[in-house]
Amino acid sequence: MKIINQQKILTNALKTKGASLVGYADISILNTYLSDKYPTAISLCVKYDDSFVDLWKLKNEENYHDSLTKLNPTMNEIIDTCTDQLKQWGYGYKAIPIAIPIKNEKQLNEINCFSHKFAATRAGLGWIGKSSLLITPEFGPKVKLCTVLTNGKFETGNPVETSKCNSCNLCFKACPFNAIKSHDWHIGIERDKLFDAHICNNKRLNAIHVIGRKSACGNCIQACLKGSHWKK
Ligand code: SF4
Ligand code: SF4
Repeated sequence: MKIINQQKILTNALKTKGASLVGYADISILNTYLSDKYPTAISLCVKYDDSFVDLWKLKNEENYHDSLTKLNPTMNEIIDTCTDQLKQWGYGYKAIPIAIPIKNEKQLNEINCFSHKFAATRAGLGWIGKSSLLITPEFGPKVKLCTVLTNGKFETGNPVETSKCNSCNLCFKACPFNAIKSHDWHIGIERDKLFDAHICNNKRLNAIHVIGRKSACGNCIQACLKGSHWKK
């Protein structure tokens, strides 16, 4: 009962701060230092405003970048709310930094060693699309992700382990740089089999000089029709 009550309190607090989706994942299968210390990941998604999506044009990378970073203050506030509450209950925690902008090598290394998308799929929030993005049933790929790891006890969701893209190929067709390979994701598949992150990163770095990835032009995000606002 204590677990369920705390989970409800935390989820409500996070949604009040702007989280569109909140999921709890058992990440113990990773068998890493981080997952041994913090076996539960709290996966947090904030949906992009629809007006941002209209700005995601190939010839407007600056707008695209701005729209991606505009949610950072909200994400940070959500993370703070989460960690403050976990601390109040006496749980250990570690916030994984949001992906953009990556300010230094330390952050880049932390992101490289933990995947927000992995946590989201283990929490049951969605699957990895042919575009290598998290695809949520509610908002498709139009969400920004962050994660807080904890040793607190929470009920975890049912992991998603296979793609639900089915015969769709819209992102593959929309990628102007052939970075997407049109393969279905399943748990354990290497990212390189799905898409070429170097092509995607380089296209972004041509216009915007930040360390690391991700997402160059956003065509694959714009093309995906999954999510309530974008259903056919
Ligand atoms: S962001 Fe652009 S370059 Fe990168 S995979 Fe999507 S469509 Fe291709
Ligand atoms: S556009 Fe289609 S194939 Fe690509 S991620 Fe979305 S549903 Fe999957």
